[in-house]
Formats: sequence, C-alpha cells, structure tokens
Amino acid sequence: MNKAFDPAVRDFLDGRVWLRRHTSFTSEQIDEHIDEGFISVMAGVVKIKNFLGQPHYRCGRCENDNQQLFTTFQCLACKGPCAYCRNCLQMGRVSVCTDLIVWTGPRTEYPTDHTLAWEGTLTKHQQRASEELHESTVMKQPHLIHAVCGSGKTEILFEPIHQALLEGKRVCIAAPRVDVILELEPRLKAAFPKTVIEALYGGADVERFDAQLILATTHQLYRFREAFDVIFVDEADAFPYTAEQTLQQAVRKAAKPDAPVHFVTATPSDALIRQIRKTGAVSTIYRRYHGHPLPGPRYAPLWNYSKQLSKGKIPKPLAEWIQVRLDADEPFLVFFHEIELMMKAETIIRTLDDRIRAVHSAHPDRKEHVRALRDGTMPGLLTTTILERGITIKNVQVAVVGAEQAIFDRGALVQIGGRVGRNQDYPAGDFVLFHDGIRYAMDAAKREIDRLNRGED
Ligand SMILES: [Zn+2]
Ligand SMILES: [Zn+2]
Repeated sequence: MNKAFDPAVRDFLDGRVWLRRHTSFTSEQIDEHIDEGFISVMAGVVKIKNFLGQPHYRCGRCENDNQQLFTTFQCLACKGPCAYCRNCLQMGRVSVCTDLIVWTGPRTEYPTDHTLAWEGTLTKHQQRASEELHESTVMKQPHLIHAVCGSGKTEILFEPIHQALLEGKRVCIAAPRVDVILELEPRLKAAFPKTVIEALYGGADVERFDAQLILATTHQLYRFREAFDVIFVDEADAFPYTAEQTLQQAVRKAAKPDAPVHFVTATPSDALIRQIRKTGAVSTIYRRYHGHPLPGPRYAPLWNYSKQLSKGKIPKPLAEWIQVRLDADEPFLVFFHEIELMMKAETIIRTLDDRIRAVHSAHPDRKEHVRALRDGTMPGLLTTTILERGITIKNVQVAVVGAEQAIFDRGALVQIGGRVGRNQDYPAGDFVLFHDGIRYAMDAAKREIDRLNRGED
C-alpha cells in the first residue's frame, strides 16, 4: 500500500521551515506525517560544544550563528537553561527545545497554465535586458539588471517570470523594504491574473500557502528552505539587506540548491557588480523608458535648518519651495534624515497647508498617506528615507532637507532623485538638495547621474 499524505499539509509546508506547534493542522495530523516520513523534525536552535567545551548555538530557521544574538534563559518547557535566537524572534521564538518541521515528501506540483496580461511594449533596451535575464535563468546563473530609476525594471521581469511559471516553477521576488512589496503586489497580480500570488511581509494576512509566485520582504525568507526555482532580489542595495549577512543567507537558503538568484537595482554597489560579473551576467540600462534623461540635483543652502525648525520656524527657502508647489498644484516629497526633526517640521509646515503629513517606517498611517498623495487628496508628504525607492507619483517634485547628512549617501540620493520625472507626460521636475554645507556624497550622486545620462559604464 502506498503511504498517503494530505496534499493540504504538503502545500502548506513544502519549501518552508515552520514551528511544529504553529501550523493550522492538528498535532495528530502532523505526527502521522512525521511517522510516515513525509515531515522531518529538527531543533529550533542547535547546541554544540566548541573546542573549549563552551556551548555554541546555531538557529535552525534563520541559520544565524552569531553567538551575541542568542539569549539563554530558564525555560519552562524544557525545565532547564535554554537559548533562543533573537535574529528571527519577530516570527515567533525558536529555542533549543523548539521543534521545527520541514516537508521531505513528494514536492508540490505547480500549475503550468498562466497568462501574461500586461499589454505594454518594452523599449529595445528593456527587451534586450529581459532576454538576457531569461537566458541566465535557463543557464541557472546569477544575473544583475542595473537599470536607472524609471527605466521600467519590473516590466523587464515579466517575461522571464512568465516562462518560469509556464514550466511549473516556483518564483519569488524579494525586496528588503515592505514599501517595494506593496508597490509590486497590484502590478504583478494584474500582470498574472491566473497565477496564485501571495505577498508576505510583517503583519500581512496569508491566504494561500500554495502560492506559486511569492512577493516577500527578505526577512520573510527566514521561513523558507529550498523553496524556489528562481529568486529576483529587487533593490538589493537597500538597507537592511546589504548590512545583514543573515538576510543574504536567507535568500540563498530559500532558493533550491541550483536555483539562480538574480538582482535588480538602479544603484548596485561596486562589490555586487564585481561579484555577478564573476559568475553570471550583467545587463545595464541607462535610458528611462520614455527616453528623457534623469533629472540632476540642484543645490540650495539652508543654513541652520535644524536650529530653525527646532525653534518652530520654517527656513525661508524651504517655505518658498513648498509654496511654489502648492500654488502650482504639484505633488511633492520632502526627505528628512531623522524622525524627530521631521515631526517638528510637520507641525509648522502644516500651517502652509493643513493637509500635509509626515511618514516614517513605524507610522500607522503610512500606507494611507502615500495613497492620498498619489490620489491627489494630499498636496505633499514629508518622509524619511523609507520612500527613497519603489514609489512612483506622477509629476512629483522632490526636496531633501539636510542633504549633507550621512544617511544620504550616493545611492540614496540617486534613488531619491529617481522619483522625479518618471511619467511620460511629466519627464522633468525639481530635485533640490537643501544643505548646511556640501558634502562629498552630494557631488558623487550628481556625477553618477551625469554619467548615466551620458550612457557610460
Ligand atoms: Zn533565528
Ligand atoms: Zn527550552
């Protein structure tokens, strides 16, 4: 007799690393699958002794083995000293005595019937990049799409994704920032109407665990293992992906052993370009899809802006800049380097127009405010660097307050400027760097934009 498994259990667990206690199935169901050999159990945190005889921990879910990210505690469950992983704590605590489960039975077979409903046309640059990306996917080698802001990166992915889906492959688009995922979700759902698509990020409601195309923040990939036949990492240079080794490991771990991991970004680090050139291929797109150049930054001094804002005063050049936008009915974004100063600024800037608001990563109304700006019900938005990438607003004008601050590095400034002039009908716009002294990164960003506009490597 063939051993039987419940397809629902398989679809839920296939490609995932999950807490044994936290599935939507009964413990009897899970136990039966374990007994029949369809599910393997592993320790949440593996404890070994190093050569000095001291304990050394490694997390079974996120593979973190930085000893500083483990906390030992007196555990009620195993009635002894235990240790848990702080690195992936936000997805539920895993400790030495926690069981993790992985699916080891026959794998889920995904549908091969998909349609690409996107009806736009690619420019010849996009077309070439799209073909090269597909070729790399077939050859299972990593590929970097280095495409300037507003060159239509997402559309480049459509055909390679479509081809993979038609072969019944499981595909993931990962991005370090939730805003990027939120922008991608409606576009991908419209492009692939027949495909089961799920967006995963902190706080998202998961409806379909058997989704074939998954959009996920890189953090969410801690919970996957050998799941995907191809992964596209969008905005790979964004914080925190570049800063955290474990996130990069998480992406590698979520891919099947021979699956290619591709990267898509407007501002790749030199290290990433070098790394991909060694083992894969790079496609570069210098032109925006509408053919107009990237708007370059202009500098405007804003002396002692921090002091002035703290005293409840809007520095005059900033007030004038905002007033021009309000009078012309042009949507605008003003970037700040820190939340506290921005929240002070919000109070006084709202005296110019009460509908103006501020957003930051922990702001409860962040999604609504961005939508209001896009709908035109809000004239302008103050923001931290959370909106530096991924966001497209027609005819938006952009100012940076405190462009000399370290958080505005070359990549950040190029991305922020990339918000301007994305629409065919409004291919230009103001990109002003208000500063309290010009810093190297500002000049570096300006040079980079000039270089891209000249089409140089
Ligand atoms: Zn962990
Ligand atoms: Zn324990």
